[in-house]
Amino acid sequence: MKNWSGIIEWNPQIIAYPESESEIQQIVQKALENKQKVRIIGSGHSFTPLSKTDQILISLDKYAGLVSVDKENHIATVKGGTKLYDLGDLLYENGMAMENLGDIDRQSIAGTISTGTHGTGTNFGTISTQVLALKFVNGKGEIIQCSTTDKPDLFKAAQLSLGTLGVITEITLQCVPAYKLALKSEVVPLDDILTNYSKINAENRNFEFYWFPHTTKAWAKTSNIAEGQADKVGLLNYYSEFVAENVIFKMLCEVMRFFPSSAELTSKISIAGMANTEKVYHSHKVYATTRLVKFHEMEYNVPVEAYDDVIKDIIKEVNTKKYNVHFPIENRFVKGDDIYLSPAYQRDSAYVACHVYQKKDYKAYFKALETIFRAYGGRPHWGKMHSLNAEDFATSYPQFETFLKYRKEHDPDQVFISPYLQSIFLGTSKVSVGKIW
Ligand SMILES: Cc1cc2nc3c(=O)[nH]c(=O)nc-3n(C[C@H](O)[C@H](O)[C@H](O)COP(=O)(O)OP(=O)(O)OC[C@H]3O[C@@H](n4cnc5c(N)ncnc54)[C@H](O)[C@@H]3O)c2cc1C
Repeated sequence: MKNWSGIIEWNPQIIAYPESESEIQQIVQKALENKQKVRIIGSGHSFTPLSKTDQILISLDKYAGLVSVDKENHIATVKGGTKLYDLGDLLYENGMAMENLGDIDRQSIAGTISTGTHGTGTNFGTISTQVLALKFVNGKGEIIQCSTTDKPDLFKAAQLSLGTLGVITEITLQCVPAYKLALKSEVVPLDDILTNYSKINAENRNFEFYWFPHTTKAWAKTSNIAEGQADKVGLLNYYSEFVAENVIFKMLCEVMRFFPSSAELTSKISIAGMANTEKVYHSHKVYATTRLVKFHEMEYNVPVEAYDDVIKDIIKEVNTKKYNVHFPIENRFVKGDDIYLSPAYQRDSAYVACHVYQKKDYKAYFKALETIFRAYGGRPHWGKMHSLNAEDFATSYPQFETFLKYRKEHDPDQVFISPYLQSIFLGTSKVSVGKIW
């Protein structure tokens, strides 16, 4: 097995593709009897070894699809293995949509919520906040249900649990009526964005921007509801989303690999190749972008009040140390929530993500930026690279102990704990498997 970026490889004894809830129960019960460990995989799009195991790996690829829909209240219950690209279409057929999404749709819905995946928009929390109820098979092989009203404290633990409370079989989502989005993408001066991002956030439903290192330019994307507007998807969209962001960018990455000192020039060429575009289409098709160029990624959540200082420090660090990077730094904004392990726990947040081409070394760059994030109370995205362990998380998350209490209750024999998760939750692993530098 390999994760999407290819940096994590593992060789499980068994890969199980259950097709029913009772089959999932049997796998967990048998593992318990045989004192074996179980991990779960969605689409393998996390950059951390969350699904790595040399024992049993469960995939819900054959346990996917709609369970029920309540069209009147825009509520849908789906199986855990449902991929976001299928989910978008299934909801659309029923006149519904997710209120917000991240920038790809390859993940499974259970994997998406289990790491706190997010999109952008100051009125929207992480995707886990769209969940109303959950059903999972815990480490004792029991089927557990919880929701915003039934066992609400356990629910807050289950909304983001890294697959360590059990196998999530069903997810009930609060959706909204299907809607269209008008997306505007344009190249703008970085200084304008840094001065006006609060205003831009207030005036637009969704806003994010990418700063291209070694340049004074940013690529800004805003989207707003476009009901009643005609679809607008043209050749320029195809050029921008497929040719410029993937084909040309991949070629530039390869050039940069062999001529590292060309990073500055490559970054300048990359931003120069970005087109100003507009697109109007169904929301789930607008959020989703194509990512054919593989990379390593680290993303941190910081309190939005600290964002000004964080981004200034990052720009200064990148400009003065002249790292050989040309991948843009992505900036997004997310509303705070009350989910125990959510990086946005009790704070409106900014998320800043840095990327390095898959075939290049990322260590010095990520380490330097992580030091900046941590200085401002940064919490890493659970699915992206970081160097933290249980001790760091215990101090970063006020409800870390509460989460561990529910984890112990639902997985007393640590069926779902791997060496990596040991370092994240229990801090007793001698091997620093969580470290990436
Ligand atoms: C190209 C790319 C773009 C991305 N864009 C974004 C973005 O816009 N925003 C963002 O926040 N993140 C983004 N991510 C990160 C990604 O959304 C998360 O890592 C997400 O968890 C991946 O989903 P997955 O289905 O691949 O889950 P996996 O990576 O396979 O698993 C993630 C976690 O979920 C657990 N899990 C999976 N299925 C179940 C289940 N049924 N029950 C219990 N636990 C389960 C696993 O054990 C693991 O702990 C991106 C990643 C890539 C590679």
